[in-house]
Amino acid sequence: MRILVTGGAGYIGSHTVLELLNTGYEVVVLDNLSNSSPESLKRVEKLTGKKVTFYEADILDRDKLNEIFSKEKFDACIHFAGLKAVGESVEKPWEYYENNIAGTLTLVDVMRKHNLKNIIFSSSATVYGDPAFVPITEECPKGQCTNPYGWTKSMLEQVLSDIQKADKEWNVILLRYFNPIGAHKSGTMGEDPNGIPNNLMPYITQVAIGKRDHLTIFGNDYDTHDGTGVRDYIHVVDLAIGHVKALNKIKENCGLKIYNLGTGHGYSVLDIVKNFEEANGVKIPYEIGPRRSGDIATCYASADKAKEELGWTAQYGIKDMCADAWNWQKNNPNGYGK
Ligand code: NAD
Ligand code: UDP
Repeated sequence: MRILVTGGAGYIGSHTVLELLNTGYEVVVLDNLSNSSPESLKRVEKLTGKKVTFYEADILDRDKLNEIFSKEKFDACIHFAGLKAVGESVEKPWEYYENNIAGTLTLVDVMRKHNLKNIIFSSSATVYGDPAFVPITEECPKGQCTNPYGWTKSMLEQVLSDIQKADKEWNVILLRYFNPIGAHKSGTMGEDPNGIPNNLMPYITQVAIGKRDHLTIFGNDYDTHDGTGVRDYIHVVDLAIGHVKALNKIKENCGLKIYNLGTGHGYSVLDIVKNFEEANGVKIPYEIGPRRSGDIATCYASADKAKEELGWTAQYGIKDMCADAWNWQKNNPNGYGK
């Protein structure tokens, strides 16, 4: 089977491409490299000994998409391409709605014109807003997002669901990721954020390597076991394998399906600092700062549905996630050098 992976040069995409190749799929990556480097795919090829066909292209570019679809035959699309920086989305809402929403609408339109109606979409736990209950099951009502990025995910879920409802030839799987962290065991692939990291783990690894002098913890007065925010961190390789499992479901003509991809465990910011220090023998100096606007106290998944229906459960624990994130940062102080 031949799979189109949009955004496949990015953090989660590249790890997924690797797992797809190792499972025996042929992979074609489409990415505009706005937040990634082609070096990630070279590393995938080195680790797998297999070839990745790569198109530098934008999902907004209808002509280019038509050209690629006329040349290539695909059985399914895994759609990662999108902008994902929460803070930036507040500053540049139009750019986020255009890139993520107009981009996905263009992609989906080209897909249907070429009779490709199988899609796996990167959604996020952010669609639950401040969740009505934890652990969050897929039945938990969607909530108010606190930023345009989150709304793009929530709206695209609706768009894809409506398209599937109207045309039963579509198979649509919405995967709601919790907090992906960590890196490939080889230490040659990982997360490579631009500028000052927004997310906790890349910030911690940059403190560990001496690029930043301390971590600021955003608030210690939440209603959690130690006052700091609780999240469900998931190893990026586990997440990648979740996509391979979702493809099996697509093959069953599943219609519309929604799955949380999380571990079911919640860790606070202080738990992460402690686990990172213990796993790696490195000290992470930190200060307590004010809450970050839009943050919620607690968010963790019920991962039961993915277990029952996809036969998928996360295998890696928090110490692996911390050790692998550090191994990648240590070996690649400047990421892919983009
Ligand atoms: P990433 O930025 O590393 O990967 C996204 C890729 O999409 C990049 O390679 C970028 O160059 C590409 N891209 C962006 N706009 C494009 C366009 N218009 N045309 C073609 N390519 C384009 O991010 P990631 O962490 O790997 O996330 C992948 C997906 O998962 C995104 O949709 C993201 O919103 C979603 N997601 C990520 C997280 C997370 O914490 N990392 C959590 C939930 C959901
Ligand atoms: N966080 C923090 N300092 C940082 C970055 C994040 O204290 O420099 C906290 C944040 O408030 C949240 C958790 O770490 O409680 C995870 O944040 P991240 O941005 O990684 O993911 P989110 O769940 O917000 O998408």
